[in-house]
Amino acid sequence: MTNNDKYENNIKCEYLVIGSGAGGAVACKYLSDLGKDVILIEDGDYHEINKFAGSISESFLYAWRNSGITPVLSKANFAFGEGRCLGGGSYVNGGLIWRTPEIVLNEWCNLFNDKTFSKDNLKKYFEIIESILDINQDEKKSNFENAESLKIKKIGEKKNIKVVKVPKSINSSRNELTLGAAGLTKNSILQKYIISSKEKGLEILTNCKAEKLFVKDDKIASVQVKMNNKIKNISAEKVILACGATQTPILMKKSFGNRYLDSQMNVHLNLRLGVKFNENIQTKKGVMFTRQLQEYMDDGVLIMPTSFNKNNFFSSLVKMHNKDLFNIEKNIDQYGSFIIQLSSLNKIMLNNFFGNTILSYKLNNQDLIKLKKYFLIFCKSLFDVGAEEILLPFKKNFIIDKNTNLIDFFDKYLTQNNIEMVSVHGMSSAKMGIKNSEKSRFDRNGKSFEFKNLYCLDSSVLPSSTIESPQGTIMAIASHILEKIS
Ligand SMILES: Cc1cc2nc3c(=O)[nH]c(=O)nc-3n(C[C@H](O)[C@H](O)[C@H](O)COP(=O)(O)OP(=O)(O)OC[C@H]3O[C@@H](n4cnc5c(N)ncnc54)[C@H](O)[C@@H]3O)c2cc1C
Repeated sequence: MTNNDKYENNIKCEYLVIGSGAGGAVACKYLSDLGKDVILIEDGDYHEINKFAGSISESFLYAWRNSGITPVLSKANFAFGEGRCLGGGSYVNGGLIWRTPEIVLNEWCNLFNDKTFSKDNLKKYFEIIESILDINQDEKKSNFENAESLKIKKIGEKKNIKVVKVPKSINSSRNELTLGAAGLTKNSILQKYIISSKEKGLEILTNCKAEKLFVKDDKIASVQVKMNNKIKNISAEKVILACGATQTPILMKKSFGNRYLDSQMNVHLNLRLGVKFNENIQTKKGVMFTRQLQEYMDDGVLIMPTSFNKNNFFSSLVKMHNKDLFNIEKNIDQYGSFIIQLSSLNKIMLNNFFGNTILSYKLNNQDLIKLKKYFLIFCKSLFDVGAEEILLPFKKNFIIDKNTNLIDFFDKYLTQNNIEMVSVHGMSSAKMGIKNSEKSRFDRNGKSFEFKNLYCLDSSVLPSSTIESPQGTIMAIASHILEKIS
């Protein structure tokens, strides 16, 4: 993206933004629009729109941290995924922009005992974000829903439970990008917030990693960065952390030492079900993921279709016998996939292991009980709308059909040791909160309690789990923080 060699060893700017995900992107646009002198540094590389269309594995290699999968030590099979490229998670994600659920905002208002994060106060930020990204501006274009989405709609109608339309870009009729998920929305964050800010003077340094923040008195005096294997120093009047939920606390630990050693991260757990229906549903036809089942949101549970990509689907079935795989392939047009997403009570621990960070997690028993309840409800509902067979995210005993006794089955096989899950939503690992309480690092305006010129506006600063996908919330909270900084 930039010729990093042109820079001296000591670089100066007014604002240094570290990390270019959902939060960092908003900072770039907001500050550049104000004419501020801003440098953005990003550990990963720049990739053009559509570069990885149709190739998930290639995108894993170049646009994700740890080639796509960061293992989480746990009894379950558990992997965490996050972006590492210009645009961060916003480049590799599904491009859905949800407003923060009211139940979450009420919790945050109670925490701060004021209305900073009330629905009304955040409304103006969401409206700007939705307008920049063209979220649901043209209903007609997003009306051609694919079969999985219509199955969720049907479940809602049959059971008379809450199913809502998913907020996404008008360009989301494209299904073929990275994860097969909504197309141009995710790129438009890169385009509309980062690339477009170059015209306003934003300096972008890719392949440039912040290694350590140096403190003098009560300020960040400089940031040591590694650019194409060369060490340089950047000093900025204000330093903005936006490295994402795992990397922001890791950078703080490296810079400020022991008191930052015990970081924990809230996560949403995704458990994926492959479903064979009694008809051809050809899930690639139509816009994917247009409906979400929200009836159980207050319990931290959301149910939705997910991007059905044949290669991706088969890679999750390596545990199957060849003859069964052959049968699936023969009937692939009958298959779709869905996710049960749970806002986990327990957090992922970011452990320091001889200078490296290792993630570990234990599923809470209450969450296990919830999973049993909602697997039962959802699988029954799927059979009611034409499912013949369901492939569960279990290591062993993972196939059920209409004749399975679901209560007995889930009692026996939905266990800590037998489940397979992923998470792509990490947050609250360097959270804002009340000073000196619950290990909060930043105040409600994203300003560090300890260092005068340090701010944070990525997913790590959120006070708690958003239950819903976090990107919209991260962007809205970042907008609030930026208003206070500038
Ligand atoms: C596959 C997938 C699908 C998702 N789908 C959705 C969705 O549809 N809707 C939604 O709301 N959310 C979704 N998410 C989650 C969403 O993408 C993230 O919550 C969001 O991007 C987090 O934003 P962030 O600003 O915290 O940082 P990130 O997006 O994690 O970006 C941080 C950036 O900082 C860089 N960085 C890290 N450390 C350093 C350093 N030391 N120096 C310089 N740069 C550094 C990283 O390389 C990275 O690019 C999805 C995530 C994934 C992975």
